[in-house]
Amino acid sequence: MPRRVTVLGATGSIGTSTLEVLALHPDRYRVHALTAHRSREALLAQCRVHRPALAVLDTEADAAWLRARLDEAGLATEVRAGAEALVEVAEAAEVDTVMAAIVGAAGLLPTLAAVRAGKRVLLANKEALVMSGALFMDAVARHDATLLPIDSEHNAIYQCLPVEHRGGLARHGVTQLLLTASGGPFRGWTAADLAAVTPEQACAHPNWSMGRKISVDSASLMNKGLELIEACWLFDARPDQVQVVVHPQSVIHSMAAYSDGSVIAQLGNPDMRTPIAYGLAWPERIEAGVEALDLFRVARLDFEPADESAFPCLRLAREAMAAGGTAPAVLNAANEVAVEAFLDGRLGFTGIGELVARVRDARPVEAVRDLETVLAADALARQAAHDWLARQ
Ligand code: NAD
Ligand code: MG
Repeated sequence: MPRRVTVLGATGSIGTSTLEVLALHPDRYRVHALTAHRSREALLAQCRVHRPALAVLDTEADAAWLRARLDEAGLATEVRAGAEALVEVAEAAEVDTVMAAIVGAAGLLPTLAAVRAGKRVLLANKEALVMSGALFMDAVARHDATLLPIDSEHNAIYQCLPVEHRGGLARHGVTQLLLTASGGPFRGWTAADLAAVTPEQACAHPNWSMGRKISVDSASLMNKGLELIEACWLFDARPDQVQVVVHPQSVIHSMAAYSDGSVIAQLGNPDMRTPIAYGLAWPERIEAGVEALDLFRVARLDFEPADESAFPCLRLAREAMAAGGTAPAVLNAANEVAVEAFLDGRLGFTGIGELVARVRDARPVEAVRDLETVLAADALARQAAHDWLARQ
């Protein structure tokens, strides 16, 4: 029986790569549902190829447009609209596997719904885990969901750890997780150089082709900060057990260091289809359509420490994880508002870290009791961020 897959955020960079891998294995996988926010043309094209049972868009107007086009084409895909429909296609009984590839906080509820329904959840949407941390991991355990990290670094670490790695790193002889970072397009730049950079420069990543939000996060190193928090939750690590290693070639995707001196690394070309195929097929391995790694062409691997004075977002994220409670949700919300403002030309690049720090100072850290606490912290941090922007 083929596995039935829902792809949340199907029209994005990860969503598109996921559909490429699925298309290589029609005998193994069927697409149950595809979702997008506003990109209705792209979703229509995907429906023509993958023939899902369901498609979801944000507004009823876009859904009606898609319904009409699908009717004309004689396709039976049912179209729904809105946030509740995202939750429905994530938890549907027919679905085995959910690719969580919506960007930002908007992905939290459908991703959690998939977890609570005990699905195999392929987690690309790191913001969901950063926001809800302990709640998310508790739900994974309680509902016996299978959580497979798709973020390339976490997927690499997952591959470098023993198969059963719950219960803390020390129990398995792991001393440190080495989280590699390309350094982004501005590696080696000073804070002064960074003041005038444009969204186009920030989105031109040297090694990876990604959506605009994560591209800006990679340029500011907030992406590495979010990943540090993500690693702490996924692998039960303390922030001081995760070391960020700048590795400009992006060939080693991350490593685990063991007490006997061994360091295990996962290598490959920087292509998200590798971790996606790993998550889809785990514990088996399938063809991903990725070019084989040619070590002679790579020739050398370089490593250097991250520059936290020019890129304060990494430090802000580490501090948020250490502060605990709602602090990571506040960090994430402020960053989402800051990145949007930067992409719209309303905030300079170095303003991203400044805005995140201001919102952090303005919002108390609260214990996370339930999802409502997280959603309230997110909303109030967004408000504080917008207020700060309005005063500039
Ligand atoms: P993207 O911007 O290319 O795509 C985002 C997708 O989510 C699109 O389908 C979009 O329609 C949908 N979407 C956006 N806002 C939405 C909303 N409010 N409600 C519902 N749907 C919405 O992003 P991406 O680069 O594919 O990244 C997706 C997630 O994966 C992010 O959390 C990112 O951090 C993570 N990730 C991406 C990469 C990568 O290589 N692109 C690598 C690691 C992790
Ligand atoms: Mg990553």
